Amino acid sequence: MSTIDELPPLREVIASHGLSARKSLGQNFLLDLNLTAKIARAAGDLTGSDVLEIGPGPGGLTRGLLAEGARRVLAVEKDSRCLPALEDIAAACPGRLEVLNADALTLDPLEYLTPPIKIVANLPYNVGTELLIRWLTPKTWPPVWESLTLMFQREVADRIVAQPGSKAYGRLAILAQWRSDARIVMHLPPTAFTPPPKVSSAVVHVTALPAPRFPADPVILERVVAKAFNQRRKMLRAALKGLAPDIEDRLLAAGIAPTDRAETVDLERFCALARSFET
Ligand code: SAM
Repeated sequence: MSTIDELPPLREVIASHGLSARKSLGQNFLLDLNLTAKIARAAGDLTGSDVLEIGPGPGGLTRGLLAEGARRVLAVEKDSRCLPALEDIAAACPGRLEVLNADALTLDPLEYLTPPIKIVANLPYNVGTELLIRWLTPKTWPPVWESLTLMFQREVADRIVAQPGSKAYGRLAILAQWRSDARIVMHLPPTAFTPPPKVSSAVVHVTALPAPRFPADPVILERVVAKAFNQRRKMLRAALKGLAPDIEDRLLAAGIAPTDRAETVDLERFCALARSFET
């Protein structure tokens, strides 16, 4: 049996298992094991954690996570063609890698893990934002996960970490930053992937805070923010008109000028506005 360092190079794995990349599954593989180890290290110390990886593909990042000492990795992969390659990795790390052949959108793999839990993934672009939003909006906070270390298209990564006043600032920034710290830890050019995607990518590291930065009801905050950014070019007194007849007073009480636009309002003031709708 091979140890993890003796497994064949990923190009060989892809050739021997016939893993031609499928666009419909967002398959852009990372074949450089130095790079996948670097991404695994960006998740911090893995030795005491269970790690959830979505979309392991041929297993480059999976190998990085195991080589960096993850206590246990649960890898959820939709494409059954990848299973034999992943089984070879599991055999090289007895008891540390479990593979689920499933669609990550139709099950909650977090149920299968024991805290502390870290989520690390080179996400399929077509499902990445949806999974992130699910992880950021659990029923209770703090969430079951400690951190998320996720690859996104650069443009999505910019939206996650955006600050007020920038074009990228919107719902995703507020959702990510209200109860977490979010920062970009790595930029990757298209050439880092096989096949190369059309756009650049970035790894975002998100750490869950023990409690929200400012109090607010999550459902009300989401409703206010969604409405504010749905018509982001409008002044807030117009964009939020439908929420309450006295919206101008509520805006002023939250420290927001009724003529402001959503993209200039920071998290603290959105939370104050949301609180004005709590009974
Ligand atoms: N982690 C590998 C790497 O870094 O080389 C592959 C990353 S590739 C961008 C995305 C992977 O997610 C593919 O292996 C694809 O088959 C898988 N995938 C796509 N949709 C999925 C889903 N809904 N659930 C689980 N895996 C999915």
